[in-house]
Amino acid sequence: MASPNGNGQGLPVNGEYDRVLGFTIPGRHARGRLVRLGPVLDAILSNHGYPPAIERVLAEALTLTALLGSTLKGAEGQLTLQAQTQGGVIDLLVCDYRGGEMRGYLRHDPDRLAEAPVDPSLFALFGKGYLAITFDQAVTGERYQGIVPLEGGSLAEAVEKYFAQSEQIPSLVRLSLRAEGRGHVAGGILLQHLPEGEDGRDRIHTRLDHPEWEHVSTLAATLTLGELTDAALPLDRVVWRLFNEEPEVRVLPILPLSRGCRCNPQHIRDVIGRFPAEEQASMADAEGLIHVDCEFCARRFPIAAETLPR
Ligand SMILES: [Zn+2]
Repeated sequence: MASPNGNGQGLPVNGEYDRVLGFTIPGRHARGRLVRLGPVLDAILSNHGYPPAIERVLAEALTLTALLGSTLKGAEGQLTLQAQTQGGVIDLLVCDYRGGEMRGYLRHDPDRLAEAPVDPSLFALFGKGYLAITFDQAVTGERYQGIVPLEGGSLAEAVEKYFAQSEQIPSLVRLSLRAEGRGHVAGGILLQHLPEGEDGRDRIHTRLDHPEWEHVSTLAATLTLGELTDAALPLDRVVWRLFNEEPEVRVLPILPLSRGCRCNPQHIRDVIGRFPAEEQASMADAEGLIHVDCEFCARRFPIAAETLPR
């Protein structure tokens, strides 16, 4: 199915964009996700107008968000990535995923970016910090948070290391971004070894050198960054290319991705309307307007205090 390409920014039409493909390899106790982002990524980036080095970080974080978010059970769960850092160019990054809807923003210091190297390392961008990954499973009510130290060369490397060391889930993560005309294509793969199944949290026998894992991760590692972002290459073809010699590979239905935010003028009015009148008055400016910002959309919603319900 072709993805609509309404942004007119030079991405090839009929490309395989804005979707996630899940797959499992039962004989190897492995599960995977492949994601490719196009117009959805551009819609999010174009809200902000960040410089290219900063756009790259947000694009990689959004790709990771789609990979991890699509492992949630059911459509109502939410996955949130939030980086809080000190001493780097970027001091805050937030991305989330709910039912295929994605959004994200970050905060950076343009003066510090100007002093950074041309191709800055993860450390130069984030300084010292952590990435909190929060899984909210709406189906089961389960909520847990993983804390990933932002170390190493890339976001993918930091997350791989976190899963292997803290969660005892051997994982492979690759993220890729390509500029295409004035648009972008991002791609990613997540492959994980779950020898005790999807639900068991105690994986006593997990070993990084498990032969099952060595086999599938070696195959997955042959995937090139170019293949990840090749919009002409359908995601199921990628799975086939990597694992066609496995006796059984199950492919899940394609999950479409969209750009979505929960901010809307009526919701904001309702929230502000619940504040006491004195507080509303103290929030209003000289013209009687209360300004509410949505950082995800880089939008400001002015609300006339006198029109709020009393
Ligand atoms: Zn918004």
